[in-house]
Amino acid sequence: MSNFKHYRDVIAKRIPPKMSSLMENRPGQSRWEDFRNELRRLSHPCSLCFRRCGAARHRGETGYCGIDMSGRMILDGIFGNEEEPLNPTYEVFLAGCNLRCGFCYQWDHIVNPAGIRVMSPEEMTKSVRTGLREGAKNLHWVGGEPTVHLPWIVNVLSMLHEPVPVIWNSNMTMTRETLLLIETFTDVVLADIHFGSETCALRICKDASHIAVARSNVEYLAGRTGLDMILRLLLLPGHFHCCTEPLLRWVRETIPGVTVHLMPQYLPPSHHRTHVPRSPLTRDEFRRAQDLAVELDLKIHTETPGGKPAAPPARRDFENEIIIHPGGGMTILYLSGDFENFVEFYKNSPHNDNRVSGKTTKGRQ
Ligand code: SF4
Repeated sequence: MSNFKHYRDVIAKRIPPKMSSLMENRPGQSRWEDFRNELRRLSHPCSLCFRRCGAARHRGETGYCGIDMSGRMILDGIFGNEEEPLNPTYEVFLAGCNLRCGFCYQWDHIVNPAGIRVMSPEEMTKSVRTGLREGAKNLHWVGGEPTVHLPWIVNVLSMLHEPVPVIWNSNMTMTRETLLLIETFTDVVLADIHFGSETCALRICKDASHIAVARSNVEYLAGRTGLDMILRLLLLPGHFHCCTEPLLRWVRETIPGVTVHLMPQYLPPSHHRTHVPRSPLTRDEFRRAQDLAVELDLKIHTETPGGKPAAPPARRDFENEIIIHPGGGMTILYLSGDFENFVEFYKNSPHNDNRVSGKTTKGRQ
């Protein structure tokens, strides 16, 4: 079970959210202004992330991530499917990313963020306020990669009247200077790490250099107090020896106190890019990862959404899950009895236009 000590204290109002420190006004200047000045230095020309493109974003240029100074939002709303006790969370999915993971389910939005509508900080602030009024406990930035939107995000945060708990859901490939800024206002970091091998990163993501940056940033945060972090490991099918095992051993050797969330829900993309796993994780692969994590005595996240404690890792059961692809296709994987019957029925039905697929074995993707 995750500790989330800092976050629980914030929610219980025993300590203020991190961004409170930025809301303290000093005579003549708010701390947001200092913060913005530092951000201006880092983003003009841009060195917010490891790519250090040098794009003059304030003049409308875009770098590798495709983002200038405007905010391009794919989707926002209150969600309840994150690690407890983070739910309900007000999640903002932003376009643009500094990586190109071939299996990314937001692929179209990250490679072509210019096609996503621009949202002003004022509009976003209004939506966030509404979400918080309607019961969200925190503000959760995710992408793509939120780091590439940092100047815009800071504008949104500075317009909120009240400090809120902030979650930063990231690939952790920002520069260290950028991370120091993010740390100033962030209460929970969800660190998404995918590759344990440079070869795999190069094949699937066309970049190997980000691995060292991401690991170094995670190691830095693991030694910090005043915020919580969960290391989310998306388990890549067929990548146990090259990715899963080295990642778990790295955790053991370098940051054994960090909570690890083993994520089995890899979704084979509907597009066809080379070197990308084409099938979901098998239950055996998941068990193998869990067994190794247990053997290495890692802190494994075991609390399911909704607050129910999960079964011990080696015996964890799956729930049904239906995935709707952007093109309208639907995938239902690892079905339990009722859904299995439904999919078999529908697959053979004259109404099926071949966009429904299902794997009729137990478990879940
Ligand atoms: S945030 Fe974007 S523009 Fe800035 S360095 Fe990274 S990829 Fe380049």
